[in-house]
Amino acid sequence: MKLKPSIHGLLFNELEEFCFSQGLPKFRAKQIWDWLYVKRVSSFDEMQNLSAPFRARLAEHFVFQTLEKLEIKGSPGETQKLLLKLTDGELIEAVLIPARTRRTVCLSTQVGCKMACAFCASGQCGFRRNLTAGEIVEQVLLAAELYGERPTNIVYMGVGEPFDNYDETLKSVHILNHPDGLGIGARKITISTSGVIPGIERLAEEGLQVELSVSLHAPEDELRSKLMPVNKRWPVEQLMDACAAYTEKTKRIITFEYTLIKDTNDSPECARELVRRLRRFPSRVNLIPLSPVEEFDGERSTPEAIRQFFQTLEKAGINVTLRDSKGSALKAACGQLRARRI
Ligand code: SAH
Repeated sequence: MKLKPSIHGLLFNELEEFCFSQGLPKFRAKQIWDWLYVKRVSSFDEMQNLSAPFRARLAEHFVFQTLEKLEIKGSPGETQKLLLKLTDGELIEAVLIPARTRRTVCLSTQVGCKMACAFCASGQCGFRRNLTAGEIVEQVLLAAELYGERPTNIVYMGVGEPFDNYDETLKSVHILNHPDGLGIGARKITISTSGVIPGIERLAEEGLQVELSVSLHAPEDELRSKLMPVNKRWPVEQLMDACAAYTEKTKRIITFEYTLIKDTNDSPECARELVRRLRRFPSRVNLIPLSPVEEFDGERSTPEAIRQFFQTLEKAGINVTLRDSKGSALKAACGQLRARRI
């Protein structure tokens, strides 16, 4: 039996087509979209300006909500981690990161991850499956419910590799970005990749203003391949070429994520090599002190090593920031999210 899709996985024009196929005028799609993303109701029955038979028709074709909230860690107003159950019993995590004026949501795109980065919890149990666009969008709606307001920023930095699930990820971006719905501006949406070049190349062609982050973590192949097996497929030089082409084409600045691991990738030589790599085109670097992950015995760099690494980049004129990774008490910080089974 084919499972009914989530209504939240439809693009606006797909919803219009659905209305049309049911013999209804397309403006009905706008009304439904408004219930879904502006009023954010929790069932078809609450869509009061639709006839009962049409609401029944919608329910025949679509599921309203496919994610179930199993657990919320953390208190309102602070970082909160959501454990969510999918219809097939798989589990994912999403994180709410409130700051002064921002309400950010960190989204998962897959159950598990194929990338198997040594220091990241998300890939430790392997890969289970891709999320659908509906499952990605629903994470944002559950976050909106907890925030009590529409989220302002989205980061695709939860479990999974967004570019290993390119189509559903991009579809979710279009749904979240739609001006008559949640209207989350493309510039407020960040997609992070471990360096999947075909994804970077495709994104360059989308004509979208989204932010792109690339998880680099090492400036040369030997070390990067040890930390990130994805580097064997797409080595540093090729990755840099793809990033240069992306910057050239989109005129948008890429942020390179660099997790600092003691005595591993935090030496002055690494900093200098990184500077050399980044000379070719404008970019930003975001340094992240390693978050503890059980399966990885590396340690966070010392404050002194972090300071030196930072300064080497800064002195070379690179735009560098140090990320204060939120939520490590909840195991909700960078690299600590995982797919779990109950
Ligand atoms: N697969 C994508 C999306 C995940 S983003 C990507 O790799 O970019 C999660 C970010 O946290 C990535 O930059 C990742 O490299 C980083 N990260 C993973 N494990 C970490 C850890 N233990 N400490 C700090 N950052 C980590």
